Amino acid sequence: MGTNKISAMILEAFPVASFVIDTEHRVINWNRACEILTNVSRQSIVGTKNQWQPFYSSPRMVMADVVLRNPEDKDADSLYRGKLRPSQAIPGTYEAEDFFPTLGSNGRWLYFTAAPLRDEEGVVIGAIETLQDITDRRLAEDALKESEARFKTLSRTDSLTQLFNFRDFYEQLEHEVDRAARYARPLSLVIVDIDHFKTINDTHGHIEGDRVLRQLGELILGWKRTSDKAFRYGGDEFAILMPEARHKQAVEAAERLLRRLAALPPEEDGSIKRCTLSIGVSEYVPGEKPIDLVRRTDAAAYQAKKSGRNRVVGNTPNLKSDPRSVPGK
Ligand code: GH3
Ligand code: MG
Repeated sequence: MGTNKISAMILEAFPVASFVIDTEHRVINWNRACEILTNVSRQSIVGTKNQWQPFYSSPRMVMADVVLRNPEDKDADSLYRGKLRPSQAIPGTYEAEDFFPTLGSNGRWLYFTAAPLRDEEGVVIGAIETLQDITDRRLAEDALKESEARFKTLSRTDSLTQLFNFRDFYEQLEHEVDRAARYARPLSLVIVDIDHFKTINDTHGHIEGDRVLRQLGELILGWKRTSDKAFRYGGDEFAILMPEARHKQAVEAAERLLRRLAALPPEEDGSIKRCTLSIGVSEYVPGEKPIDLVRRTDAAAYQAKKSGRNRVVGNTPNLKSDPRSVPGK
């Protein structure tokens, strides 16, 4: 039996989809596994130059064609959008992974390699390409990425109100302060604390208290601008980071929140409707530390409590004309 015949038999029994082309880029072998993967029969393709057909919608080089030419050629690499990499194992062999929308019913992910074939003198006489369906692995990887992203969202979310949680607040604060400082943009912080919330718990029970917190979360989500970020900052305290908002705009927005709350339709006992809010507002002063912005806003919220509750108090140094204190309603 000639060597060619034996090679052909090995290739035929080889469970990895493989095909061989000669130096004219003509298909000379297309094994059984390749027939199954591509749904293209050997009879219909051997002798043609249609190796692109199962994989692409118009004629182009496949990887076996590329290794016959010069794989380091920029055009060749751009065919694979930079995904073509030399194999670690065998010099002259290349590999890549890509998605092929035309394969199977919903497209398939393939890991494919190609290597030049040489005769005893080392002269290239053709190329072999192998193709492995890695769709299941890729789908599993995608599912894992999705669940990691979901977990990340969950770990940033306060389960009661669905707002971002306390932990996320400091991360986002740093990020927004950095941005405000770098681009010299305004940034304001609003801190909201429910008045006499302990009384709600004491009078109506903890479950009703939780319902009030959820309702306030919803109210804040409906009130804030899309670019604002709202957090459950503490037990009955909420923080809203307002990029692009000056002190005056943030104070006006906070007053709107008080008005929205007051204008809610009447509800049974224990609803957020029964509560009022004390709100502190401060604009970031260029150069200050993030924590100092929080301290000033906290102090403003405290001032709002001390001066009678149900009001907004602003606390931004060096403001020319803004009032430092704005009563609610
Ligand atoms: P003030 O007007 O001075 O803010 O009075 P307050 O009663 O709201 O006082 P404070 O802010 O100190 O009390 C907050 C209360 O919030 C105390 C705590 O029992 C309650 N709390 C904290 N977290 C939760 C929660 O997740 N659910 C419920 N139902 N209550 C909570
Ligand atoms: Mg409170």
